[in-house]
Amino acid sequence: MLSKTIEKALNDQITFEFYSEYLYLAMAAYCDSIDLGGFANWLVAQAEEEHSHALRLFKYVQDREGRVILGALEQPQSDFEDIVALFEQVLHHERKVTARITEIYELAVKEKDYPTQIEMEWFIKEQVEEEKSASDILKQVKWVKDNPMGLLMLDQQLAQRQPSALPAGENE
Ligand code: FE
Repeated sequence: MLSKTIEKALNDQITFEFYSEYLYLAMAAYCDSIDLGGFANWLVAQAEEEHSHALRLFKYVQDREGRVILGALEQPQSDFEDIVALFEQVLHHERKVTARITEIYELAVKEKDYPTQIEMEWFIKEQVEEEKSASDILKQVKWVKDNPMGLLMLDQQLAQRQPSALPAGENE
């Protein structure tokens, strides 16, 4: 059984993961509109990953005999100053996710909820990867922002990212 506090925190996080999916899709649509199809592809794959995070938590709450309550999704931003500003926002967003996951972990430590601690450990590890890939791409877009050839090459590189085909929970 989940405590009411942890159940609420996990429900809020499920909504936030769906919001992340929504935000990355909005960013993908922007990239597509400025003819950066590879960036758009990377962001759609990222959105799919966020979807799998939401479903992983959805299942976790149910497995612990909690009740999933989905919240409202805010309208995501649809326009960005440029591709650098967009990736600054991706990194900022991922850091926000890390802070939220850490808070749930701390709550689980306080309440001696060991299964939730273990579940959050998976997410904490995942966030190391998420922040690293956002930060790596941000560095690269900063290098090439005024160089069309470099931007084209980076776009082609990001076009290679495959959507994660694994169901939530097996994608480790
Ligand atoms: Fe996520």
